[in-house]
Amino acid sequence: MKFVQILSLVASLATAIQVDRQGRQTYNGYKVFRVITQDDSSAFESKLESLSAIDLTHNHGHTGEQHFDIAVPPESLAAFYALNYTADVLAEDLAADLALEGELEPYPGLDKSNILTTASDAAAAALPDASWFNAYHAYADHLTFLQDLQAAFPSNSELITAGTSFEGRDLQGIHLWGSGGKGSKPAIYWHGNVHAREWITSMVVEYLTYQLILNYSNDTTVQATLDNYDFYIVPIVNPDGFVYTQTSSRLWRKNRQTRSSTSAVGTDINRNWPYQWDGEGSSTSPGSETYRGEAAGDTPENTGLREYAEALTSGNGIKLYIDWHSYGQYILTPYGYSCTATAPNSSKQNSLAANTGSAIAKVYGTQFTTGPICSTLYAAAGGSNDYFQDVAGAELAWAIELRDTGRNGFVLPANQILPSGIEAWEGMKYLWSNF
Ligand SMILES: [Zn+2]
Repeated sequence: MKFVQILSLVASLATAIQVDRQGRQTYNGYKVFRVITQDDSSAFESKLESLSAIDLTHNHGHTGEQHFDIAVPPESLAAFYALNYTADVLAEDLAADLALEGELEPYPGLDKSNILTTASDAAAAALPDASWFNAYHAYADHLTFLQDLQAAFPSNSELITAGTSFEGRDLQGIHLWGSGGKGSKPAIYWHGNVHAREWITSMVVEYLTYQLILNYSNDTTVQATLDNYDFYIVPIVNPDGFVYTQTSSRLWRKNRQTRSSTSAVGTDINRNWPYQWDGEGSSTSPGSETYRGEAAGDTPENTGLREYAEALTSGNGIKLYIDWHSYGQYILTPYGYSCTATAPNSSKQNSLAANTGSAIAKVYGTQFTTGPICSTLYAAAGGSNDYFQDVAGAELAWAIELRDTGRNGFVLPANQILPSGIEAWEGMKYLWSNF
C-alpha cells in the first residue's frame, strides 16, 4: 500500500498536469480553498505561482477582509499548508465537481419535447428545444443554436460579427429589433464569456435572448423593450479561450494570444480596454490571470468589440451595457479603475442595481450584492465597464457576476443553468420597466 502511494506521488510529481483520454486536464486531487489574507494581490499571486495553484477569484469579502479562492494541485498541498494561511475548503476534489457539472450534451435542435412556457405557439414552435438549457454544450453547437434563434425570429433579427479572435474565430452574435425596424433605437449591448471558464454566462445570455424572442408577441414589458431598444448580444466574446476550456483546461480564463516577448499564453481581455488601462487590479506579468497586455487594446478580441461599440455609440447610442461574468453573485456598476471616482449618474445606477438584485432574489432567494466594482469587489483597471461608461457613453454600464458564491464556482452543475436564467430574466424585466 505504502509502495503504491509512493509510486503515485512520484507519478504526480513527474507529470504535473494529468489529462484524460481526450487530452483534457483532469484536476484529480486539486483542492479549492478560500484563503483569508492581508497580502496584497501581487504578493499573493507570486506565492500562487510558486505552488502552480490556480487563481480563481478574490474579493474584499462581506466583512471587508480580503479573500482569494484558489485551486491547489495535489503535489503542492503540503507546501500550501506550510504557509499557514487561514483557509476554508470550498471543494475537497475539483475532479468530483467537474463530474457533477455534467458532460457536454449535443444540440437538441428544433425537435421539441420540452416547450418552456405558455408563450405564443408560433414563437415557441419556431425556437430550438428548451432542453438546450439542461446541459452545457460544445462551442460549435452554440453557433448552431444562435443560427436557429435567428431563424426563429426572421423579420426582427440578424446574426452579427463583432470582430475576430486571435485564432481567427468570428465573435458571433445576434441583433434583435422591434417595430421601429433594424437599427432605429438606442442599444442594449451584452457580452458573455469574456472569461473562458465562466460557462454559465453564455448559457444565461442565450436564455435571455430566447425569452426575448419567445415573449415578444405576448408580454407587454418585453414588447415595449424590444420596440424601444435594439439588442446586440454576443454570448461568447472569447471563443478561443472557451474552446480551450472544452478541449484542454476547464479553468482557463484569458484569451489564447501568444506574444514574441514571452512563452506565457493569454491576455485578460477584460483588463485590456483602452481606458485607465495601466492601473490597479491588472497585471504586467504575462503569466497572471489578469495580464493586461503590452499595450492598451492590443488583443484582437478587444479591437473588434471596441469597433462594434464605436459604431453603436455613433449610431443611436448605448442605453445599457452588461458584461456577464461568474461567479460571486454581484451586480456591479462603474468604476473598476478607482474606488473614489463616481459616474455622474452613479446614484441612479446603484439604486437600479440594488432593485434589480431584489427582483432576482424574489424568484428563488438568490442574493446578489450590488455596488461599484472597485469598492464592492476589487480594483480592476482596463475593464469593459469603465470604457463603456466614459468612452462609449453608455447610460448604464454593468458587470453581473452570476451564481454561485464559491461552492461550485465556475463549474456550476448543469441543473443550475435554468434557475440562473429564470432569475436573471426577472431581474432584466424589472430593469427594463424602470430604467
Ligand atoms: Zn469574469
